[in-house]
Order: sequence, then structure tokens, then C-alpha cells
Amino acid sequence: MKPIVYAHSAADFASSVDKLLNDIGFDAMFSAGDTVVLKPNFVAPRDNSAGATTSLALIERLARRLRSLGAIPVLTEVSGMEFDTRQVFGFLGVDEMAKACGLEILIPTEADYVRVFLTRGKALKQARINRLAFEAKLINLPVLKTHVITGVTTGMKNLMGLVDNRTRKQMHIRGIHQCIADLATVIQPTLTICDATRSMEGDGAVYGTARKTDMLFASTDQRALDRVLCDFMGVDWRSIGYIRRSLPPADIDLRGGFTPQRFVMPRQGAIYRLFYRAMYLVDMVWEPLFHIHFNEFLYKTGRFGTHPFILADSECAACRRCIEVCPTDAIHGDWSIDPKRCLRCLRCYDACPRGLIHVKGFSNPERYTNET
Ligand code: SF4
Ligand code: SF4
Repeated sequence: MKPIVYAHSAADFASSVDKLLNDIGFDAMFSAGDTVVLKPNFVAPRDNSAGATTSLALIERLARRLRSLGAIPVLTEVSGMEFDTRQVFGFLGVDEMAKACGLEILIPTEADYVRVFLTRGKALKQARINRLAFEAKLINLPVLKTHVITGVTTGMKNLMGLVDNRTRKQMHIRGIHQCIADLATVIQPTLTICDATRSMEGDGAVYGTARKTDMLFASTDQRALDRVLCDFMGVDWRSIGYIRRSLPPADIDLRGGFTPQRFVMPRQGAIYRLFYRAMYLVDMVWEPLFHIHFNEFLYKTGRFGTHPFILADSECAACRRCIEVCPTDAIHGDWSIDPKRCLRCLRCYDACPRGLIHVKGFSNPERYTNET
């Protein structure tokens, strides 16, 4: 039987989610007493309007629906290694949302990872994986984005948030594409729903350009879904190593439809990717010695990576909005930014009415490419 992929317009968000869940037979997938794990993408302190993280409204709706079925929804996620997961949850307002809809949260500790041998793995032979991926039914909730290392990030790439940091580093070092394909042989979600309401193009997956696409995609077959997501982005799925290596099915039953887009792809080339890979190699030694990830250390110097700086010259209205919105008091009275405190959330950038805050490494200062 051909795998089914659902593609729904989400222009009217609440009714679109409900219709999607009805069409996929959501209520028949989960029963009273089931623990159901929701795995969003909370990679960084940047919210869904930036196209960086899964919509809290989508998560809340799913949690409420699961509760109405008598199931127990649990959210689990860890942020990118250079970010603090607790801080990201606080920034995004995850705790408040979870409390409002009866959603439990598990931020995994070392004890929550189990060693798994990947018998079909070609590059990744073993991994430490969040136990909930095996103890409960899993709903994977990626955001549709481009990615400077992997080209795009879709369902299978989002599974990386279920492995421990050491495994994540090894995946980058051993060859990220094959390792993601390997991981997908042992983590197979009950359902994947891709949040493509606000997507990201350009130099994603954190500091690319938000793109309003107003779509939701869902499937029980993650490989089929990822292939369709590439079609939607206007990307040849064969050019994305982890999707090609996962051997997605050729025949897919597409329910619903979409107009293919032309996502702007990341600008970074092979040298950038090589540097990134080397950084993970260094971190294998660095992090145990200095108790800070090597990339986080580089970012905190204020000399590397995406970070804001303020050109508060004569045009500055001294409105102090940048200072007021900063969640970590990283902006001093003289408008200098303390890189050690800066979360790189870009709230200050969004708040400045005069466009005086610049961001090194931001792919496109236009916030939404296809909105009027
Ligand atoms: S300085 Fe700007 S980017 Fe840094 S934490 Fe404050 S608001 Fe966020
Ligand atoms: S938000 Fe912009 S205009 Fe206002 S104080 Fe900050 S830099 Fe100046």
C-alpha cells in the first residue's frame, strides 16, 4: 500500500488543524492510557514567527486532543548545544503553555538516555537515545526549514533532538546525512506533523528568513513525508543526503495539494561545513575539559557566529525599547551588548523602530519574504 501524505492549507489555523487530525484518523491512533510524546523543534530562543521553532498553538491543540482521548501527552526536547534548554523553554513560554493544557514536560538528563545498537546503521552503529522514543507513542513535530549543514531540516532531521549530546557530536563527525538516515531506522514516529505555517529559508535553521507558507503536512511514513516536503520547498529530494540515503518510497498517495515554492537555499559551501565538522571534533575534547561546548565558547566571545550589534548613532531615538525587551539585560546603557549574556534571540533587532540593530550572519534582514 502506498504511504499517504496529507498536505493541508493552514490559513485558518484552528479549523485546519482539526480537519487535518480528522482526516488522518488521529483519534484512532491513540487510546486512553497511552503516553504520547510530542517532539517539537525548540532549537533556539527564537519563536515561531521567526520560522525557527514549532508553533506552541499547534502543540497545545494536540495536547488538548490527546487529553480528550484519555491519553497522557508528554513533551520532550533539547535545544541546540550552544543554547540552554531551560532558558529556551522560558523564552518561548513553553511552561505556561504546558500548564494550560495538561502537558507534561521531560527535559532529559543522562539517566533518560538508553544505549541502542543500530543493526542497519552504516555510519552510526550505536546511539544514546531518549527512552521516551521507545516507551511511548511518538509524534514528531518538525518545522519546515533550510539548514546550513544539511540543506533542509524536515522530519528525520528533527529526530536528532532525541539523542544525547555525545551522539549528536558523533553524528556530525561521522557524516551527518548517513547518520540521520541511520537514526531513522530505529526511531519511527507513530505520526509526523510538519509545521509549515511559518517556515524558514536562507541560512537556517535558526537565523534564516521567515517565510509565511500556511501549510501543515502529516504522515505516518517519515521518509515519504520528507520527500513531499522537499517537493513543496522546490528542492530536489535527491540533493538532500539524508533523504536520499533513507530510500524514500517512489509512490506516494498525496492527499490535498500545494503550490510548490522556491525556497532560497543556504549560501554556505563545503568549507563552512568542514569547519563545522571540525568544531564538533574539537568539542569532543573541549567540553569535558572546560564544561562549555566549543561552539558556545566561540559565540560567547562575541567574535564568531550570528550576533547583534547596535549602531546607536545620532539616529537613535533613545526609546530604550531594545533594552526593555532584552530578556537577559545584555544591553548596557551605552548600547554595547555583552556577548556573555546575549542569548542571540534577536528580540532587540525586532523591537528597534529605526533599524539600528544589525545582525552579523543574518541571511536576510527582511523578516517575511512573501508577506505584504
Ligand atoms: S541583546 Fe538582543 S539578541 Fe541579545 S539577548 Fe538581548 S534582546 Fe536577545
Ligand atoms: S530600540 Fe533602536 S532607537 Fe530605540 S534605543 Fe534601541 S537602538 Fe535606539
